[in-house]
Amino acid sequence: MPLFAANYFPANHLPRVFDADQRYTVDLHMHSTVSDGALTPTELVKLCAERGLTHMSLTDHDTMDGIEEAGIAAQQAGLCLVPGCELSTRWQGINIHVVALMPGGLQGPLIEGLEQQREARIKRAEVIAERLEKMGLPNALEKARAQAGSDRPLGRPDFARALVAEGVVADWTGAFKRYLGSGKKGDVKAHWPEISDAVAWVVASGGVAVLAHPLRYGLTRRKRGLLMDTFQAAGGQGVELVSGQQNPDSTRDLARQLVERDLYASMGSDFHFPGSHAAPGSMSLIPRTAAPPIWEHPRLVHLRDAPSGMLGAGS
Ligand code: AMP
Ligand code: MN
Ligand code: MN
Ligand code: MN
Repeated sequence: MPLFAANYFPANHLPRVFDADQRYTVDLHMHSTVSDGALTPTELVKLCAERGLTHMSLTDHDTMDGIEEAGIAAQQAGLCLVPGCELSTRWQGINIHVVALMPGGLQGPLIEGLEQQREARIKRAEVIAERLEKMGLPNALEKARAQAGSDRPLGRPDFARALVAEGVVADWTGAFKRYLGSGKKGDVKAHWPEISDAVAWVVASGGVAVLAHPLRYGLTRRKRGLLMDTFQAAGGQGVELVSGQQNPDSTRDLARQLVERDLYASMGSDFHFPGSHAAPGSMSLIPRTAAPPIWEHPRLVHLRDAPSGMLGAGS
């Protein structure tokens, strides 16, 4: 059963303004097994199609290795895929995420940027492992590797699973709360680039940089505004107005911060695995706002009338 009524707007034709509180058949932030998601790119695309999405982006952490597979699946399923990734960056000692929407695919300085991210992630995993070993998880690197189940660069979720499997903590939430979450010993950020550098890679590579889940960094409204100013000064032009489930009042307040700065509004579920609170396309309603939809960005306008398959493929 599709999640969305077919008459929200004509198929493959997205509205030019957000003129009512509603949901759209668009999800521009999701993960696969290529990073810390549970579904393969093909399985993810199929699930998106089943749920009635028309436009999606696969945004694995610091890699676009799943895009080719997702593009083939999107062609078969009849939905439009925007190539993308989610970059780990740093701003004022905080780990900030930037979604890169890459209509032309992986090209330009982002190629080198993603190689740098891969190296950073490998080195960071060694530091995280050393710290966790001192705190009671022997052979942390091997244990996280076993949890990952492939040779992809490790992420904190792999260490979280290892901590649970070894009985150091009761559950995943406890692992982040005590060891891996923001400000804890396992929250190692030193390897990531400054947010401005990451944004510059995206923009110089034909993409659109989108500030990911701005309400999830525990910032005051004022500090969030400063983050947006830095992001925008570096060339960032989009912000996730809605990411997963969020409070409607916070969303409206965030919308005002976008409007004040002429930033485009994006949306995504940040889906990682079935059975969690998130599903593809399941995020909160987008409010009525003067902030333009991200598909009004000059680099993404062909999304509005896009045929199925990978955006940019064959063009
Ligand atoms: P990494 O990319 O290695 O820095 O790991 C970050 C990922 O860990 C996020 O994308 C989430 O999937 C997950 N994560 C981060 N913080 C938490 C948290 N507090 N609780 C649960 N999962 C989290
Ligand atoms: Mn993740
Ligand atoms: Mn994120
Ligand atoms: Mn994400």
